[in-house]
Amino acid sequence: MSLTRRALLERLGLAGGVSAVYLGMEAMGLLNAPPVAAEPFELPPAPGRGKSVVVLGAGIAGLVAAFELRRATCAATCRQRGNTRYASFAQSAR
Ligand SMILES: Cc1cc2nc3c(=O)[nH]c(=O)nc-3n(C[C@H](O)[C@H](O)[C@H](O)COP(=O)(O)OP(=O)(O)OC[C@H]3O[C@@H](n4cnc5c(N)ncnc54)[C@H](O)[C@@H]3O)c2cc1C
Repeated sequence: MSLTRRALLERLGLAGGVSAVYLGMEAMGLLNAPPVAAEPFELPPAPGRGKSVVVLGAGIAGLVAAFELRRATCAATCRQRGNTRYASFAQSAR
């Protein structure tokens, strides 16, 4: 019985989802996956010292931005619209 590449990928998808299809396509040489370009970078020591930043919105993006700014020694504050300390999605999840 012959199995086409398409049929094999469909079966891979049924069994393992998108990840399995992706890896299968990579293994068969059907994907030209670029090499990972991201490299860890080092900040200079205390780049944010003496700087103050207000981040508007305490959603995940705002919280992460404030966290990273504080790690970079910036005086970062997160402000959320309304009376709540939590972002819109966090509110709906409570
Ligand atoms: C119903 C629903 C279910 C979801 N379920 C999932 C899930 O299961 N898993 C998942 O990974 N993602 C889920 N998401 C998506 C996820 O919630 C969003 O991708 C994520 O919240 C985006 O984060 P964000 O910080 O960019 O924006 P938001 O979380 O929207 O945060 C932005 C914040 O900024 C505030 N804001 C806006 N304007 C101002 C202003 N002028 N001043 C101060 N604050 C302001 C808003 O009130 C809000 O709290 C869901 C989204 C919805 C709507």
